[in-house]
Amino acid sequence: MFEKIVIANRGEIALRIQRACRMLGIKTVALHSEADRDAKYVRLADESVCIGPARAIDSYLNIPAVISAAEVTDAQAIHPGYGFLSENADFAERVDKSGFVFIGPRAETIRLMGDKISAIRAMKKAGIPCVPGSDGPLPKNDRDLFRIAAQIGYPVLIKATGGGGGRGMRVVHTEAALLNAVNLTRAEALAAFNNETVYMEKYLDNPRHIEFQVLADEHGNAIHLGERDCSMQRRHQKVVEESPAPGLPEKLRHRIGERCADACRRIGYRGAGTFEFLYQDGEFYFIEMNTRVQVEHPVTELVTGIDIVREQILIAAGERLSYRQKDITWRGHALECRINAEDPRRFTPSPGRITYYHQPGGPGVRVDTHVYNNYTVPPYYDSMIAKVITHAETRELALARMRVALSEMVVDGIKTNIPLHQDILNDANFIKGGVNIHYLERKLGL
Ligand code: ADP
Repeated sequence: MFEKIVIANRGEIALRIQRACRMLGIKTVALHSEADRDAKYVRLADESVCIGPARAIDSYLNIPAVISAAEVTDAQAIHPGYGFLSENADFAERVDKSGFVFIGPRAETIRLMGDKISAIRAMKKAGIPCVPGSDGPLPKNDRDLFRIAAQIGYPVLIKATGGGGGRGMRVVHTEAALLNAVNLTRAEALAAFNNETVYMEKYLDNPRHIEFQVLADEHGNAIHLGERDCSMQRRHQKVVEESPAPGLPEKLRHRIGERCADACRRIGYRGAGTFEFLYQDGEFYFIEMNTRVQVEHPVTELVTGIDIVREQILIAAGERLSYRQKDITWRGHALECRINAEDPRRFTPSPGRITYYHQPGGPGVRVDTHVYNNYTVPPYYDSMIAKVITHAETRELALARMRVALSEMVVDGIKTNIPLHQDILNDANFIKGGVNIHYLERKLGL
């Protein structure tokens, strides 16, 4: 087992990883930017190394700085968390070549899944259902473009193969708008992802976003931990997540989950991962795979009782999975609300000092956060400051627990989206369950 792990991330996930390490008796090195120097979780780590100025590009994304921090602290492994370098295949390769263990899949796997076209091809081959589409890069020839779109049928979605974070996508409703949309998406993709390759998919008009969590070791074992429904989104960013997905037939869960585990075995996947699907009219359509731990992993942890971050570390250390598929059971229902430092109506970021912080508690309430009284939310990073997760025997009770938890929570000094969550938790259709990915934006009148 590792003696010391470098945590190449910040905020709540840095603290989450630190806790998992401590449970395993592993020492931690917190890497931080100048802006995060005084954060309590940095002080709580066994060691800390400042890797650069506030801007992420100069610190959390600075590969040589991260590797040298591992060298000077004599660590054996690097946990990338989510975001930042977590899905950067070049980083994973550099970590490996420098003699450290990257806590995640092999670099080739990250590369394969990081390119959406190659990911879809690999998944199709592995028997995963995908969205009908161009099955490869779009041609430059206009006639071929029209033909492909007509075959798929409008509306279609133009997507950048290198896209991420909900960017690099454009819906096209008519043939007249096609060429312009393809050219615009190509130009944007080139600017944002340095890769102008785009492909085309059928645009599904009312799908839900349902994803499957998997764990796989390097000895060929793979299991699934069921699904999460993340349909409550704004600008393709998840706002509320839950497990299980309301109304999803048990048989279908097992069928798709098994297929995902099987796909992991076929591609030699290693670590924790998520298969993201759109789900419409009883059918699943793969959209992409995330080769890292996700923000919403706690809902799966609460319903399965499995510590996903601990498993990631054990797998990276070369151990066999601690569980077989038949050991996995699902209990009750869990929900997660992402608490952001932002205006609840206009969604503009609201960084600054938290003058008073009070955290909810009680049975079935978990709060993953790095903030506290007098903590200053820096303006440089993602606005998420906490995740409130509730668990109960039924969805109705988990919702009730969430309402109580949010009513107790106090974050003074900055604005948060807690009022938005309170609206969602009282929305009749959300309470019924099973709303689609457009629901929140339509409710907000966007
Ligand atoms: P990213 O990597 O940017 O997150 P994804 O491929 O995961 O991109 O898609 C993000 C979101 O965009 C999905 O959760 C869904 O809301 C929407 N989306 C993606 N593909 C389609 C599609 N074919 N039809 C309708 N909506 C889609």
